[in-house]
Amino acid sequence: MRIPIQEVTPGIGKAEIVGFVHELRDLGGLSFLLIRDRTGIIQVTVPKKKVPEHVLSAVREVSRESVVRVSGTVKAIEKAPGGRELVPETFEIVSLAQSPLPLDVVEKVPAELDTRLDSRFLDVRRPRVAAVFHIRNACIQAVYEQLFSRGFIQITTPKVVAAATEGGTELFPIAYFEKEAFLNQSPQLYKQMMMGAGFERVFEIGPIFRAEEHNTTKHLNEATSIDVEVSYASHHDVMELLEEIVIAAYRKVADSCGQFLEQMEIRDLPVPASGFPRLPYSEAIEIAAKKIDEPIAYGDDIGTAAEKAIGEEIGSHYFIVDWPTAIKPYYAMPCEHDPSVCKAFDMMHPRMELSSGSERIHQHDLLVRQIQAKGLNPESFSFYLTPFRYGMPPHSGWGLGAERLIMTMLGLQNIREAVLFPRDRHRLVP
Ligand code: ATP
Ligand code: MG
Repeated sequence: MRIPIQEVTPGIGKAEIVGFVHELRDLGGLSFLLIRDRTGIIQVTVPKKKVPEHVLSAVREVSRESVVRVSGTVKAIEKAPGGRELVPETFEIVSLAQSPLPLDVVEKVPAELDTRLDSRFLDVRRPRVAAVFHIRNACIQAVYEQLFSRGFIQITTPKVVAAATEGGTELFPIAYFEKEAFLNQSPQLYKQMMMGAGFERVFEIGPIFRAEEHNTTKHLNEATSIDVEVSYASHHDVMELLEEIVIAAYRKVADSCGQFLEQMEIRDLPVPASGFPRLPYSEAIEIAAKKIDEPIAYGDDIGTAAEKAIGEEIGSHYFIVDWPTAIKPYYAMPCEHDPSVCKAFDMMHPRMELSSGSERIHQHDLLVRQIQAKGLNPESFSFYLTPFRYGMPPHSGWGLGAERLIMTMLGLQNIREAVLFPRDRHRLVP
């Protein structure tokens, strides 16, 4: 019976393992193989004079990254990984790998990201790369734990839709029988409708599609959004929730992913302290104006250079609050005392935006006016607007980009490293 490589200890006597051939060395009278499964690496030592002939012929034939099944005696040996080695009595090639490999799994030759992504299945065989996805998994698990323990209901909303969420040009049109359809850019309208349906607390972790034209290191055309909507909650309430969830994700990774962090050479993962500073948009603009070359003034979007300059100044996670209503989506609630400012926020890592959210407008007529003010036609939103006429709880929510959370947590240079099979302007395969 196969056991995980991590569990092979000298005291065990005999063991059978199955895994990839990580490395292969022939030293004349001795052959050394390193065998890898997802739990670790073990040395298989083949003293040529002492093992059966069928073992020798299999070892002669095998190539790197082939899948092999090996059984034999486990011995303690200081110099080998994990302080033990396996001396084979049987050695079966389960699946022979062709040579040469399209990508060096042992990483003696560093590969370009494009080459890595072309052979992603091999790239992810590297423990350091696999670690990213184990950590991503832990983050998503932490988010689930936080939300389920607070009574949230997980929902699934359509990705094929008839109209844009926010208007604009970021949509991918698709062929849908005889109708015009699009891939959804956000579950926003649907999660708000579920507030109208009385669910009170919903979330969805799912794909969002953005036809972003520019190839950047922080945009994907298919990203994963962690989307939350809460009834009877203010924007302050959901900012607190967001902060708690981000901290919980860091804590989970720090507590349970030591082995994976080590593989990525991250010594100590600092967990952000609670009480993220809240920076009014007007002050953020002032900071940026002082530090960047391009002109920036109240009412402008906060672009990449500004984002970076402000992040350097603050140096930790923070919120940008009190946004001009004019540059936030139509569904953001204007402030009572000054409707030119709205109850929207962005949550920032020093490097980039991680999340946008707001208190939402729950009054039908005000919402219609705001849709019109953005130059959009309320008729194309009638499915969304109808619930606002039959009793809509006040509500707030946000969307948090999963890949950006992982990317900033692990200091990845390119967002594509945080996705198994990224979709960008040029990449549709694999
Ligand atoms: P940015 O201005 O940085 O392009 P955005 O303001 O257009 O982002 P939102 O519509 O506010 O993005 O989406 C909420 C969150 O979803 C963002 O803060 C980000 O984390 C994530 N997100 C949005 N678009 C993308 C994308 N193209 N690739 C990766 N993540 C994205
Ligand atoms: Mg945003």
